[in-house]
Amino acid sequence: MRQKTSTKKNEAISEFKNFPYADFTKKEDCESFTKAIKNVRQQLGKDYPLFINGNDVISREKMDSVNPAKPSEVLGSICQAGTKEVAQAIEAAKAAFEKWRDTPPQKRADCLFKAAEIARRRAFELSAWQVLEVGKQWDQAYADVAECIDFFEYYARDMLKLGQPQKLGNVPGELNLYFYQPKGIAAVISPWNFPLAISGGMCAAAIVTGNCVVFKPSGFSSIVGYNLVEIFKEAGVPNGVFNYIPGRGSVIGDFMVEHPDISLIAFTGSVKTGCRIIEKAAKVQPGQPNVKKVVCEMGGKNAIIIDDDTDIDYAVPQVLYSAFGFQGQKCSACSRLIILDAVYDKFVEELVKQAESIKIGPSEDFANKMGPVVDKSAQKSIFEYIEIGGKEGKVLYKSPVPQSDGFYAPITIIADITPDCRIAQEEIFGPVLAVMRVEDFDEAIDWALSTKFALTGGVFSRKPEHLELARKAFRVGNLYLNRNCVGALVGRQPFGGARMSGVGTKAGGPDYLLHFMDPRTITEKL
Ligand code: NAP
Repeated sequence: MRQKTSTKKNEAISEFKNFPYADFTKKEDCESFTKAIKNVRQQLGKDYPLFINGNDVISREKMDSVNPAKPSEVLGSICQAGTKEVAQAIEAAKAAFEKWRDTPPQKRADCLFKAAEIARRRAFELSAWQVLEVGKQWDQAYADVAECIDFFEYYARDMLKLGQPQKLGNVPGELNLYFYQPKGIAAVISPWNFPLAISGGMCAAAIVTGNCVVFKPSGFSSIVGYNLVEIFKEAGVPNGVFNYIPGRGSVIGDFMVEHPDISLIAFTGSVKTGCRIIEKAAKVQPGQPNVKKVVCEMGGKNAIIIDDDTDIDYAVPQVLYSAFGFQGQKCSACSRLIILDAVYDKFVEELVKQAESIKIGPSEDFANKMGPVVDKSAQKSIFEYIEIGGKEGKVLYKSPVPQSDGFYAPITIIADITPDCRIAQEEIFGPVLAVMRVEDFDEAIDWALSTKFALTGGVFSRKPEHLELARKAFRVGNLYLNRNCVGALVGRQPFGGARMSGVGTKAGGPDYLLHFMDPRTITEKL
């Protein structure tokens, strides 16, 4: 499980490998997880400060973070940054910038290698926090922590490569050097659904490339966001290079984005917030020294196509996992299932039969494969969409939900949906699957492409010509053939969409760090 990573003592850097998942068929991994949840429970009820310039900062306003499976359980109380604290954090980042920019890439990469080592050591505990704060199942939470570790390891290695100036041209009497410099101060704004991986990945990319960061986690996952403070502190990231400023997006979001000293915004979240950020960042503010760069990853309305020769026994569990894993709260989740007429009835019958066996309850209990959604407003919105879907199509299955005050939403499968329906166009971000019947594979591709999004997609088919057509025409950021459409791995499936799903930056891929830097060329006459 260990990777040799430190660049100290001239050790060779090993090839990047994904951190292996826990194996919950093994007694020891199950015991470690149970123990971690117990341990985390003993830490509940703490106050969490802001972290600015290496100091804990207590603000007057605080917000409780609660367990979505049991909202009366307060996990901790999070200090909230206002615009004053954001300005302080940006000032601290500015003061730290020049020294960090000029720190050799090897040293910056070393901070990420150390961060990865710390996260590996704490993997079960970090996962347990996610189970309690956002309702992830054990395996989903552990996969998120593993992805964060992968981002640290992958971006550190990438920076070591990009940190070497390249000699260009081969002309006697002339030396051309091509290299990269960081953009400046980065505002990192993250969602709650991959609370460590996405936050950690965006912060790590900014830090390792030499930028200084002001990081705003989502209000729903600010304790997991604080885990990053602990990790980066222990990893030796210098004061001012990483600042943590949780606060309401509606209060500090525009201020962060519009601040003249912010040069880069790394955002992942909804299309509504993302487009607002792009618009606000485009306006040049008085005294602004740089054109702002926006790295922006947004939503999806992802389709899986079921061809007429699909192996139903194999495909049904893959579709269920894609649609209902982590309650369907993944940007990559399958929310539209497009089935060819010839297999439609058989496939749908089996789909509903297997959906009925999914156990719903607190994610803390390993037996539950569906947990609560993140909060009351998400729950309300999902119920509204189920009502809309019930009018637009036919509800084939709506699961029972636990009778508790947890934020549960039913697994819902709605058939007879066509591309003009709202539930075929709008991101619901919950366990609602729209099922669509098509005549042939060409129509399936047309319907798959009929939304403004282009994030993930899937095809189950045994026909080489249909798979080839999908490769050419099913234009999404991440296309999966004959497997589920979630769980992209760093370094293997660089992740991110185009159209209204994002601006085409692939996290965990070879080009990602380039978005955080400006290239320079120096030519010398010899
Ligand atoms: P969201 O509501 O857009 O929030 C994302 C972040 O933006 C939060 O930290 C939020 O803060 C902040 N924010 C809110 N208003 C802002 C403003 N005016 N200016 C700046 N920041 C602001 O999204 P979410 O509900 O957290 O996450 C779910 C969405 O993310 C889904 O649409 C999902 O598809 C998408 N997502 C995409 C990817 C991808 O890689 N493409 C990955 C994961 C998730 P508050 O929490 O304080 O409101």
